[in-house]
Amino acid sequence: MKVIYFDNSATTRIKTEVLDEMIPFLTSEYGNASSLYSLGRKSKQAIEKARAQVAKLLNCDQDEIFFTAGGSESDNLAIKGFVYENKKRGNHIITSKIEHPAIIETCRSLEKEGFEISYIDVDESGIIKLEDLEKSIKPSTILISIMSANNEIGTIQPLEKIAKIAHSYNIAFHTDAVQAIGNMPIDVKKIGIDMLSISGHKLGAPKGIGALYKKNEIKLKKIVDGGHQEKDMRAGTENVAGIVGLGKACEIADRNMEKHIRNLKRLRDYCIIKLKKEIPNRFIINGTLEERLPGNVNISIEGANASKLIYKLDEVGICVSSGSACSSGNTFPSHVLKAIKIPQKYIDSAIRITFSENNTFEEIDYFINNLKKII
Ligand SMILES: *Cc1c(COP(=O)(O)O)cnc(C)c1O
Repeated sequence: MKVIYFDNSATTRIKTEVLDEMIPFLTSEYGNASSLYSLGRKSKQAIEKARAQVAKLLNCDQDEIFFTAGGSESDNLAIKGFVYENKKRGNHIITSKIEHPAIIETCRSLEKEGFEISYIDVDESGIIKLEDLEKSIKPSTILISIMSANNEIGTIQPLEKIAKIAHSYNIAFHTDAVQAIGNMPIDVKKIGIDMLSISGHKLGAPKGIGALYKKNEIKLKKIVDGGHQEKDMRAGTENVAGIVGLGKACEIADRNMEKHIRNLKRLRDYCIIKLKKEIPNRFIINGTLEERLPGNVNISIEGANASKLIYKLDEVGICVSSGSACSSGNTFPSHVLKAIKIPQKYIDSAIRITFSENNTFEEIDYFINNLKKII
């Protein structure tokens, strides 16, 4: 049975062009980038080319990009690295209630070390309230970390306004842009972002590779100690093939941005129109449709149970995700859906459908026909 993959916010299939670019660095070009002979230098050159590709997509300098082992590590490095280095100036961090666990759990762990965290609310559309942000600022605030776009409901935060507020109080601004990268244009200089996290596997590169953009003026304490790779910001022999893949994926994203966004929006709009036609009055859409990633549909279905729905859809070859995170057999209701204050029955019946350029209208028809039968 053909798999219909509608879970592109969980991970994406590696792009053929990306894989082709990586293969030499998994086979013949296996040199350690720190080695002085030409086999090593070739790896080093490939890394620097990728760094330039990532920098171009974000509009920053090449030496402001640091490669990591993924989005989670980039988030940890940005937040822990920043507050450890700057704790003399204060111990207060502001973030939101709808962040990815890579941010929320990092903040929780810092709370245990004596840092103070404010988790600000979002409104019912899933957007932070700028008045709340400003009200939560204290003399001890040193860092604001607000995600660019949410992984569950796709809502996009007002980055430029957040950056303005942060800088008017001399506070650094980090954003987890893992979901946003490739799905919306982000110009770090124009917006005024000080640090930004990205992850390869959310944009057609492999799992286990990520990057942190860090403005030159921002100082961090390194959190992975060891060798002096990445200008002594992150120890560990470079994942050359992964880095090359991430660079290529960023180059493709940069080149295809407008077309890609148009494609995903077309699929999303078609899906919503078709849902309204086939199961009218049976579902609600979670989060605003205005400021939202182009490929995200998150709906709650009257009377349904999301995990049962997911297993039933899986039986006919369809991959979607639920509003709840499952780990080791336990399901935790989504903190994001809680934060937008939908009733519990809608939290338990929420499913997330996220598209890629590989999806088709026929797949959406097949999905909705089956969904209708199941519910
Ligand atoms: C997936 C994701 C991460 C984690 O990235 P990994 O590379 O899987 O560690 C962090 N933040 C957001 C918003 C994500 O969607």
